[in-house]
Amino acid sequence: MLCAAPVNAYERPMTDASSGADGAIDTALAERIESLSEGRASGLRLKGDVLSLVLDVSGLEADARDALAAAIMQGATGLGPIRDVRIAMTAEKAARPIIIAVGSGKGGVGKSTLAVNLAVALHRLGHKVGMVDADIYGPSLPRLLASEGEKPRAEGKTLIPVQNVHGIPMLSMGHLAKPGQAIAWRGPMAGNALGQLLDGDWRGIDILVVDLPPGTGDVQLTMIQRYKPAGAVIVSTPQDLALIDAARAVSFFDQAKVPVIGMVENMAGYVCPHCGEVSDPFGRGGAEASAEDMGLAFLGRVPLDIAVRIASDAGAPPATGDDVSGKAFLAIGERLSRWLDRKKAEGALG
Ligand code: ADP
Repeated sequence: MLCAAPVNAYERPMTDASSGADGAIDTALAERIESLSEGRASGLRLKGDVLSLVLDVSGLEADARDALAAAIMQGATGLGPIRDVRIAMTAEKAARPIIIAVGSGKGGVGKSTLAVNLAVALHRLGHKVGMVDADIYGPSLPRLLASEGEKPRAEGKTLIPVQNVHGIPMLSMGHLAKPGQAIAWRGPMAGNALGQLLDGDWRGIDILVVDLPPGTGDVQLTMIQRYKPAGAVIVSTPQDLALIDAARAVSFFDQAKVPVIGMVENMAGYVCPHCGEVSDPFGRGGAEASAEDMGLAFLGRVPLDIAVRIASDAGAPPATGDDVSGKAFLAIGERLSRWLDRKKAEGALG
């Protein structure tokens, strides 16, 4: 019989020295169970002819877990007085990774681009980083992280993140929907889908960078209420219209009591690939000034650079290299990493 929680109606421990004449048999049995369970059994108890034990299944996949339990049951039944075996499985509860949300007030400002490059920058700085593409209406992470066409495996109801050449496991609706298929879900369904991505098997990951959908709607709210990001990074282009939306996103996170780590200005300063002249099609410095107005940190500026678009479309995030844009993303990643260190030192990240 298998139980979800440890059995506690035990009569006596099998290895209890006070069990007198039974002790020798019990010890031999205990050794046999130890070997059958590959050293994962504890709390062995014998009550009449029923053996109960706790089996630590940490790190085992469902098949291996079931096979081990079956082997113990089969191997132990009939040993000495044992006629029935009750197994309570336990597993170390995997600590949830810290969630960093990347949001914007509107679409097209480079939110997904920033999210991916921040993840790459944090990875280069030695963090164990995973990504969730919460932009479930317009998932672009499979392309940006060169994993289009892949499918995540499922372990029961848990999704196993998709790996990629950049060392950043990820889950995206883009992996579940057919390429080009429109995803037109209402709020609650979208929220559930997002929950599945965030509840994926993130063992071994310290930081989960979440690319939110643009704006401040239902899906963002569900995510924030259920998963409490440690902080949010807001990206905006430098012009007024985008900044008004960015301010709305900041106030949304404030209301949800998610600390806004700071603002990033994207698409600032266009460097002409022909003559090298720098122009500012969307203005310059707007996000920095606006961050200052709102009392927020300014995390950095990424130039409008055709190389960013080309590299991103090719699934090679600029932060993997050290050119001008790559360095800009890395500098933002370093600021984020310092913020995380500070919060850890303050004990604010659990
Ligand atoms: P969002 O997630 O805000 O909708 P994306 O990250 O998908 O925006 O970016 C929109 C488009 O702009 C993409 O084609 C992307 O490659 C391009 N892009 C983003 N940032 C830059 C930049 N700094 N320079 C040039 N192109 C950029």
